[in-house]
Amino acid sequence: MKQRPLFPARLDLSSGRPTLARPETQVRAPVQVSRARTIASAPTLPHSVGPDSAARRRGMVLMLRQQGVNDGQVLSAMHTIERHRFVDSALASQAYEDTSLPIGLGQTISKPGVVARMAELLRNGAPGQLGRVLEIGTGCGYQAAVLSLLAAEVYSIERLRGLHDRARENLRHLRLRNLHLLFGDGMLGYAKGAPYAAIIAAAGGEAIPQAWIDQLAVGGRLVAPVSAGAGGIGMQALMVVDKTALGVRQTVLEAVHFVPLKSGIA
Ligand code: SAH
Repeated sequence: MKQRPLFPARLDLSSGRPTLARPETQVRAPVQVSRARTIASAPTLPHSVGPDSAARRRGMVLMLRQQGVNDGQVLSAMHTIERHRFVDSALASQAYEDTSLPIGLGQTISKPGVVARMAELLRNGAPGQLGRVLEIGTGCGYQAAVLSLLAAEVYSIERLRGLHDRARENLRHLRLRNLHLLFGDGMLGYAKGAPYAAIIAAAGGEAIPQAWIDQLAVGGRLVAPVSAGAGGIGMQALMVVDKTALGVRQTVLEAVHFVPLKSGIA
């Protein structure tokens, strides 16, 4: 994997020696995580699907290939999940462009290019499907749906009740029995589902919370945006953390732009 230019920073770019990222933001109040609920057996919602949506998704997949995404499973999942169903109907015409879009409450759905890139990093070329995956930041539920096609089980946690509810609505028609939506503070991870083969964050903090590292299985991989710290105000980079029997290896990749990781629920 290619290493891209790095920020000066608190990011530990080391050395081969195991390093553990320390959370810099402490979680103050204990926050209850609601029990995992499976999306199942809900009635199919009436929903007008644009007649050309499959063709537009094919175009999007072509674009992803041109961006360097090679993983056939990821490309297939991106082709299958109808992104236009996860955004406001006024924005549906932009759903297959490589752009992030507002999903309400000041949050955004990530660009398809970023979703595919992170999914490819998570899979890391494995021949089969991933085991249990934890996603922090359900948002509108799009990435959770993509992940559910790549993994045995997906636990996706969201701290904003409004988006958690919206994701459930958006996902109902898909009836993804291996996708569990949780309402709670994802900075704490979700210990009941641990250990995870993979953890992915859709929001960027100043460091990787220790709980995520703890809940990652040995042999597992975490992909998350992390801010580059005071020297690089507003800048974030994608970080990959591989947990091995010998310790934790961190790799910093390209610059990205995600909404902030926040603690607590709202
Ligand atoms: N994957 C999403 C992207 C959503 S944007 C999608 O496909 O739409 C990131 C989301 O992370 C936001 O909804 C934000 O509320 C959520 N978030 C931020 N901090 C969080 C935390 N500590 N726990 C859970 N969700 C968090």
